[in-house]
Amino acid sequence: MNELGINRGKSGNVSARIDGGFLVTPSALPYAETAPDDIVKVDNDGNATGRCAPSSEWRFHRDIYAARQEIMAIVHTHAPFATTLACLDRGIPAFHYMVAVAGGSDIRCAPYATFGTQALSDLAIHALGGRTACLLAHHGMIAIGQSLKAALALAVEVETLAEMYWRALQIEEPRVLDESEMRAVLGKFDGYRNAW
Ligand SMILES: [Zn+2]
Repeated sequence: MNELGINRGKSGNVSARIDGGFLVTPSALPYAETAPDDIVKVDNDGNATGRCAPSSEWRFHRDIYAARQEIMAIVHTHAPFATTLACLDRGIPAFHYMVAVAGGSDIRCAPYATFGTQALSDLAIHALGGRTACLLAHHGMIAIGQSLKAALALAVEVETLAEMYWRALQIEEPRVLDESEMRAVLGKFDGYRNAW
């Protein structure tokens, strides 16, 4: 994530679903220093096993896996452009057809709640409804998918869209594609998204 420019420092976290729960990156450990044994196992009730504490954001990982049976991996970052928009309480509208890559005609921004709380988890799941990505107001973004590779690729795509939208906003608010245009794109994307 850091090499791809979608995260900086120790922020963000990543998980993958396993039988009975998920594996998640540990709390407060720099990624470059994280070894396989530092990865924490968390069961569906939120009980952690491992030598490190799980990411403080483990709760929304658990709740997303419970709510979305098709999802196998979650990437959460504080990507600079996505987070800039999120700090303005803005999602990403259909200013570009690729917004459909997250499953709908916009990428929503969940309202703010304190990190690690049930409130944030509930708001994130709502914003992810029918989507595979959302922004988190005054915080960052979440991308989810059927594999780690897919979730990471989507996170990069969302950050790219956020950067382009931010750049367009420097000139003026861009025109947004209408619902019928986005329906056409979403129809063409069905096979494409499944291939990720
Ligand atoms: Zn975060």
